[in-house]
Amino acid sequence: MVLKAEIHSHLEGTASPALVRKLADRHGMTLPDSLFTNKDSFRWTTFLEFLKAYDMASAVIRTPEDYRDVTYDYLKRCAEEDAIYVEVMSSPDHAAMAGMAYQDHLDGIVQGITDATNDFGIEGRIIVTCVRHLGPDQAEKVALQTVAAPHPLVVGFGMGGDENAHHPSDFAWAFNIAHEAGLLCNVHAGEMAGPESVIAALDHLPVKRIGHGVRSIEDPDLVKRLIEEDITLEVCPGSNIALGVFPDFNNHSFLKLRKAGVKVTLNSDDAPYFETSIGREYLIAREHFGLSDDELLNLTRTSIENSFADQKTKLKLLARLQST
Ligand SMILES: [Zn+2]
Repeated sequence: MVLKAEIHSHLEGTASPALVRKLADRHGMTLPDSLFTNKDSFRWTTFLEFLKAYDMASAVIRTPEDYRDVTYDYLKRCAEEDAIYVEVMSSPDHAAMAGMAYQDHLDGIVQGITDATNDFGIEGRIIVTCVRHLGPDQAEKVALQTVAAPHPLVVGFGMGGDENAHHPSDFAWAFNIAHEAGLLCNVHAGEMAGPESVIAALDHLPVKRIGHGVRSIEDPDLVKRLIEEDITLEVCPGSNIALGVFPDFNNHSFLKLRKAGVKVTLNSDDAPYFETSIGREYLIAREHFGLSDDELLNLTRTSIENSFADQKTKLKLLARLQST
């Protein structure tokens, strides 16, 4: 058994088809059959279809109780695969689209984490994320909401969405609000765009981690910079193959980045959409990247050391790794 940790998963994107159906029933909503496959995953082919399916499924998460259930269900599944720590990215914009206030969605997530910690011993933390293609004004709003309602489980601020929309400098104000309030920051880059996107993010945003960052390998100077500036990459191999960032695992940059000395970690991104889980990502690393149990455990150590949790929590989690 290898203990695991995950630092890149989108909360709304963790909801399984079964849970999405249950929440739709709860609210008397009808979802089109075309949203699901026969294998009980979500149906999509292109990136745009993926985003559409994601938004449609997320729209059933409408109350604090729903957010509690989505969070609890995900952490339970992670704990069943021997994960001891998970950072989830929440999206107040998705909550608002479903008619929920920031505080209500946060209360639900906090309850889900608290219940899962009590029941399974797994630790969870929250990274509040803005959506890049909704623009800098909306990002600023999210940052202001986040710092106005601090909570010990909210440890980070980040940005997902369409990497090719806007420039990172447009979001500096939003990130600086969060950063100055003590939140650690990450941003998606180097996934749907090349190394220049990662460079722009590092130049303009106070980030410690890059979501994906896997295309950094195309620029040797950037690889050096990632090492010098001690930046951790939140790598999601299953997601990258599903979305066609690389044609197959053999061509994935994970091993090259790791060999160069860049800090890499394993993550599922949006598990049911990519028919993956944190357990499957570790399996991919074992089967396709040839990593041993010790090497996998070292990846867990990297995730925990570079998580956004407080020092005391990190030491407690690292001690659990020592004892296995
Ligand atoms: Zn992501």
